[in-house]
Amino acid sequence: MKRPTQAECNPFPYSDSNKRYHTFAYYLHKRFGEKCARIALDAGFTCPNIDGTCGTGGCIYCLNGSASAAGANLAEQYAAGIAAMQNKWNCKKLIPYLQAHTNTYAPVEALRRVYEQALSLPGAVMLAIATRPDCLSPEIISLLAEISQKIPLLVELGLQTVHDDTAARINRGHAYAVFLDGYTRLKQAGGDIAVCVHLINGLPGENKAHMIESAKTVAALHPDMVKLHLLHVLRGTPLYALYQQGAYTPMEQKEYVDIVCDQMELFPPKTVIARVTGDAPEALLVAPLWCRRKTAVTNDIDKELYRRGSFQGSKYSI
Ligand code: SF4
Repeated sequence: MKRPTQAECNPFPYSDSNKRYHTFAYYLHKRFGEKCARIALDAGFTCPNIDGTCGTGGCIYCLNGSASAAGANLAEQYAAGIAAMQNKWNCKKLIPYLQAHTNTYAPVEALRRVYEQALSLPGAVMLAIATRPDCLSPEIISLLAEISQKIPLLVELGLQTVHDDTAARINRGHAYAVFLDGYTRLKQAGGDIAVCVHLINGLPGENKAHMIESAKTVAALHPDMVKLHLLHVLRGTPLYALYQQGAYTPMEQKEYVDIVCDQMELFPPKTVIARVTGDAPEALLVAPLWCRRKTAVTNDIDKELYRRGSFQGSKYSI
């Protein structure tokens, strides 16, 4: 008798493949009926952790503004992004993604102009906005709720760790309490806003217990989505200097896969795991180099969950 495939014996309900976690692709397909693609945009904003408002120098892994295309035309960036994407996929439904820096860090009217322009881009079915939790004033949250009446909104909210000593070590510029306040007010805003919480694994000074604690704490918030990132050492960052001094050791692949699987088991099944690794700019990536083989990493995660007989939420308790 033919053995069932990994997809056929997958017990996870929010999947139609061998994935034992709730992928972004699955979510988008269910919501919009077909494959969708994100197009990353740089609206030319800066960040309060760079310009001195809450800090200077930025988070220690940040390229500190070197990726900014301030003033660049969004429509042109979008067209270029679509052209690049079409080498791989031919998606008709698109998600303009205001990704660079802090995209709620400007006067409300300036933000409104950018959001209105982005949501009007051809093929846009959702608008994604990346930001920090300390840049969510009541006026900005009202604006986000208003925009979400015109297009579904995905707010990508950087947390990275729930541990304040780590946040200080990485020069994050805000504590967990600030995140919780911004997150809670955003969730109460109404409208069609999904919130995606970002965590980074492998931060300096953190061990497995820290990373599991971060996942457990975020899981208790029942977020719409989470992104699990691997910390990358990029040339030119303060983290690179630490790495060169031997004061920072990047994670090994096996260790990373093991921790991501442990974290997935803690998240509610409904929470979309929108990312399980990260994309590093190839020319600047110094370590860990194994993350270049992204498919190998995602395959290892799939295999490990299968080996455990486990899946997202298997250890989740309400
Ligand atoms: S919040 Fe983002 S843009 Fe600002 S310093 Fe940190 S990583 Fe860089």
